[in-house]
Amino acid sequence: MICTSLREWLACLERESCLKTVTKKVDLIHELAALGKKADGKYALKFTNIGNDIPVVTGFAGNRTLMAKAMGVEVEKAAEHFAWAQTNPMECIIVEKEKAPVKECITLEVDLAKLPIPVHHEKDNGAYITAALLIAKDPETGERNVAIHRLQVSGPNRLGILILPRHLANFYQKAEAQGKVLEIALAIGVDPILLLASQALAPLGFDEFTIASRLYGKPVELVKCETVDLEVPAQAEIILEGRLLPGVREVEGPFGEYPKYYGPASLKPVIELMAMTTRKDPIFHTIVPATMEHCLLGAIPREGGMLQILRNTVPTTLSVHLTPGGTCRYHVVVKIDKKHEGEAKNAMCAAFGTSHEIKHVVIVDKDVDIFNMEDVEWAIATRSQAGRDVMIVERAAGNLLDPSTDEGIGDKMGIDATIPLNATKERFERVRIPGEETIKLEDYIE
Ligand code: MN
Repeated sequence: MICTSLREWLACLERESCLKTVTKKVDLIHELAALGKKADGKYALKFTNIGNDIPVVTGFAGNRTLMAKAMGVEVEKAAEHFAWAQTNPMECIIVEKEKAPVKECITLEVDLAKLPIPVHHEKDNGAYITAALLIAKDPETGERNVAIHRLQVSGPNRLGILILPRHLANFYQKAEAQGKVLEIALAIGVDPILLLASQALAPLGFDEFTIASRLYGKPVELVKCETVDLEVPAQAEIILEGRLLPGVREVEGPFGEYPKYYGPASLKPVIELMAMTTRKDPIFHTIVPATMEHCLLGAIPREGGMLQILRNTVPTTLSVHLTPGGTCRYHVVVKIDKKHEGEAKNAMCAAFGTSHEIKHVVIVDKDVDIFNMEDVEWAIATRSQAGRDVMIVERAAGNLLDPSTDEGIGDKMGIDATIPLNATKERFERVRIPGEETIKLEDYIE
């Protein structure tokens, strides 16, 4: 079943015992994040005793099985399915206010202190909204963009924002050049599909919501905002409406980021909020940074995009995995069905080219389980020779958040862990015990 709202998804998790409710008193400062981190990848948590009527959920998309389940596919097919949806986008529809649960309560006096916004890491500069879809339109073309940005609570109706040089930055530059505000809306408390869609590596002008429509199998329902000319998910729990101010910069950061290091403090743009609309009993979602929920949301859409690019070069590319140990951004394992010698190195070159974030690439054969790092390491240990199979590219563009780079300039390394095509079959035959796959130990022990 595909869920098209957060509460539908939580009900689904509850039925399968993947959601635990924490009724003990929990502090929004650090304690909530610490518990979220402990439960990371195992189950989602719902906090109901945090000194606020609005409960907080976290970790509801904290492992690959859950992400794949949200999309209605097997784990190995998740990236492929996402790529398919991205190449077959479907329009959204606009519904009337009466049909939008997020319009049940409307206020023009925003006070962020009334929302249960946690402080996550030790050195974070205060409370951060980490799981809001930021919706904005190109001031010139009116085309929509959806993305997640870290948002620092800087005042009752004021947020500091990190805008990396991507699509929102483009819109903001255009608005700012004319001395105009850029209207934005924030949707908090949405289902995993909307979150995943927001992370697509899509070109400027591509509406990320149209990927979600395809993944839903029906149009995403949007509703018009109260104070800005934008449309937002009608099924969201909370919407904040606001505007990015031109020419204003205030201190934002530090903030603990996905590579498990702090993004530094600096002067950054500011959002002023004008309105809040919510369901009558809203739920707040926080993504604890650097958890699997955080990393996987970025990984699966990236893997989908990489798969398509890799197949242009090596058509027998079967699957890719951005590994958790590699922050779900820097390390990728690529599985190919090698037909020609040298293809592994071509696949490496293509993988480096998919994103500046890619740093280390391992190419493996089709018998290797790329989601099992022990199996991947085994392939490196027994199928590669450094002198022959390692390729290094020096001083290419890397990721600024990788502290080992020289301000973003870094090296790339590829490891070919595939069996040479001219090797005898016997030399690389994996040991196997007949019956091992099907035998059940429980049938033999008390
Ligand atoms: Mn975009």
